[in-house]
Formats: sequence, C-alpha cells, structure tokens
Amino acid sequence: MCPPVDETPVNGSNGHANGSNGHTNGTNGTTNGTNGSHEGYSAIRSQHNPHPHNASPYKPVGDFLSNVSRFKIIESTLREGEQFANAYFDLEAKIKIAKALDEFGVDYIELTSPAASEQSRLDCEAICKLGLKAKILTHVRCHLEDAKIAVETGVDGLDVVIGTSSYLREHSHGKDMTYIKNTAIEVIEFVKSKGKEIRFSSEDSFRSDLVDLLSIYSAVDKIGVNRVGIADTVGCASPRQVYDLVRTLRGVVSCDIECHFHNDTGCAIANAYCALEAGATHVDTSVLGIGERNGITPLGGLIARMIVADRDYVLSKYNLKKLKDIEDLVADLVEVNIPFSNYITGFCAFTHKAGIHAKAILNNPSTYEILNPADFGMSRYVHFASRLTGWNAIKSRCDQLGLKMTDAQYKACTVKIKALADVRKIAIDDTDSIIRAFHHNLHNEEERTLLDGLTAEEKKKFAAAEAELLGVKEKRALDEAADAQAEVPAAKKTRTAEVS
Ligand SMILES: [Zn+2]
Repeated sequence: MCPPVDETPVNGSNGHANGSNGHTNGTNGTTNGTNGSHEGYSAIRSQHNPHPHNASPYKPVGDFLSNVSRFKIIESTLREGEQFANAYFDLEAKIKIAKALDEFGVDYIELTSPAASEQSRLDCEAICKLGLKAKILTHVRCHLEDAKIAVETGVDGLDVVIGTSSYLREHSHGKDMTYIKNTAIEVIEFVKSKGKEIRFSSEDSFRSDLVDLLSIYSAVDKIGVNRVGIADTVGCASPRQVYDLVRTLRGVVSCDIECHFHNDTGCAIANAYCALEAGATHVDTSVLGIGERNGITPLGGLIARMIVADRDYVLSKYNLKKLKDIEDLVADLVEVNIPFSNYITGFCAFTHKAGIHAKAILNNPSTYEILNPADFGMSRYVHFASRLTGWNAIKSRCDQLGLKMTDAQYKACTVKIKALADVRKIAIDDTDSIIRAFHHNLHNEEERTLLDGLTAEEKKKFAAAEAELLGVKEKRALDEAADAQAEVPAAKKTRTAEVS
C-alpha cells in the first residue's frame, strides 16, 4: 500500500524524513526504498497485512509508518533470559521453554551464542533439530569466528551485535567506527553466503552518536542485511526518544528494524509500542521480562499492549491461552513468583474489588476492563470479602455457591458482610460462611451465628456498624441513583452507595 503523500510530516522542521534537504542525499528513503514514489517520504518495505487497523476513535489516521498491526516477536528467554540472575537452563529446560514458545506462536526464538561454551553449542544444535515452526536465531558478537561456529549449528539466522556507544568503544572493545563497519560487512557477507538470515545491531544505541549509527546502518542495509537492530541496553530511553530514533532510521534503511528494550526505568513495553508505531518491525521479549538486571519487554506485557491495539491480529497469530502455562513454567525454572501486578496473569489482573466496579463489571465487563480474561483462558474475579463489596458481588458469589435468595435478602446479607468487614479482616472463606449461615437462618428455626469467635467487643462494634449501614440505607431509600456516580473512585465514596 502506498502512503498518501500529503500526510504526516516526518522528522525535523522541513517535513522530510531526515537530513536538511530531504530528497537528494540518498538517505531519506527516496532512493533506497521499495516503492520510491513519494518524494520526501521513506519507503517502507510493504508487507502483507491481512488485518488492517480496527476502527477506533483513538487511532491515528493514515499512520503509514506504523507496524502495530503486523509486528513480529523475537523471543529471547533462551538468550537474554539466560542472563537473568536466577536463570540456569539445562538442555531439558531449554527444550521445554522452546516448545512452549513455539506453541504460543512466537515468530523467532533467540538462543545464547554457541561460541559462549561447548554446552551452549550443543544446546543450540539440539533445539534446531526439534523442527519447530518458529525460526531459530542465535545471538553472537560481531566476530567472524563466532559467526563461523553459529552457522554450523543449523540455526535459521544470526543476530550479530557490537557496541557503538562511546562508553563501549572506550571501555569495552576499544574499536573505532571504521573497524566496526568493516567487521560488520565482513561478517554479514559471510553469513549471507551461507544462506542464513542476518541482523546487525548496535548495542547501547541511545547513547551512541546518531551520525555514526545511521552511517553504519545505511552501510549494512546496502549490502543486504535482513534487519538492523536498536538496543536500549541500559534502559535509558523514553518512548519519545525511541519514536524519533526509529522514525529517523526508517528513513535511512529499507530493511526490517528490530528493537530491544531494557526495563530499568519502566519504559520497556511503551518503548516497544512506540518503536512499532515509528516503523520498527520486530520486538524482542522474554517471558516475565527476565534478563540482565531487571530485564526487558515482557512477552505477556507486550501482548496485553498489542491486543488492545489490534485484537484480530493478535488473536490470529498467537495462542494466548498458553501464556499462563509458559509463565508458570519459566517462573518455576528460575524460582520466582509471578508478581501480583503482572500483566494478564497476575493475581490481581482481573480482580475487581469496589462495589460500584463489581456491579458494573457483572453487568458488562467492558466498563472496567480493557482486556478480556477469556481471551487468555483466565477468569474474572470479583473480590467480595471487603467493606467495599456490593450486593451484586455477593449475589454473584451466592450463585457460585448455589444459594438462591431474593434481592432484598442479598442486600441484607451484604449489610452483614460489610458490617463484619468493618469489625475485622475477613477472608473469602469467612464470607462464604456468613453467606451460608445467613441463607440457613432464612429457612430454619434454629439460628446459626454468622461468624464464630467474635469477642464481646467485636459483637458490639458489629451491631453498631450494622445499625449505621441500615440507617443510612433507609435514609437513602434504596436510591439507585447512587449507581450513576460510578466514576467516583470507590474508596473515596461513603459506603452507602455500594449498599443501595
Ligand atoms: Zn539485553
């Protein structure tokens, strides 16, 4: 699809992709693109996209650079993830992870360099022999010797990397840009001669000199590299910086663009998304984000972001119901718990607590959910064991317990639970006991206590709390209009609104 000519001005004040003159210097895309028909705009390699953007009022119109609806995932749990402090994957573990990622549907699986150790080389060969649908890559230094070892393992491609920032050039490998460029060209030509896919990436790209970066990317693009890579190795980049750099690079190269973001400052998912919006094609992830320091863009977090952007594309490509299994597998292997706040699979990801929220959620989940738990084989959970609970949540719990009551009885039962929650912290089990006892008392002569073990002091507090709730309830005369105030944060509201 050709981009419309008169749309978004690109980078810089003159409205052209980069450079001061915009369309004569050969780096702005008019001479190196694949369609080349729009002066001043970078041609991007056109890729078949069976799922165009969904109509959304928030979607930018005519954003021809964006690859949000056709991105690819390079899954690096078996490379970046191996650098996680707690990770040690033997071959058996690597095979389990690789198979799980393949079932999930990632496009590529990246492995530790076979030049790193003899065992790494053997593991690499074994995974290549599994016959997975995902392409297998290995991540190697930009050295001819490493590349020679890698191409013999049976991988589909090599991801080569070299540090280009002044920090790395001075304090790590000590090479200048001419040396880096010559080595890159030598390695790329060798890998291509072996019929393998090849990516060339700088390291610490956001602290590298922009002219150096663009010059080397342009050089490797000209000799036919499949992808160039940008790496925020130290996690310093902000989404806006990412957008600017990728967009500029999009104007310089016609090959694919891969991005790798560390999460030191919490921007890894946002940066990946911005990179795709700016024309990047591939994003590196790892399961739970494990990697060096606090890791990189997490697979689940990226999926959460992307399914909101293009649900059809994500559903058509990835087997989302496998996500939790993969995360459980990796969490188990590296001996960490999945954080309560984790995207999609975290303990609280689909938990609703406040009464107003619970009522709306039970009526229509979209009111307070942008992700549908069913897409991931997860369940929504309404937290009812709290003073913020509402009678709709209690009604839903009664349904789960198979206990039928009238609406008035659900409401009366809810008052009891809320009053008890004011007296002391009650657990889900306690709530169930209260509901069961309340239900029992409706139908039997002999009365059960709602919650055993209350002290005299607690019983007094309970009676006062109940009286207060009932008093308020009468005053409001079951004013359903309170529900209309659902946008007020529940914690700040008086509890009356949730009762009615
Ligand atoms: Zn990394």
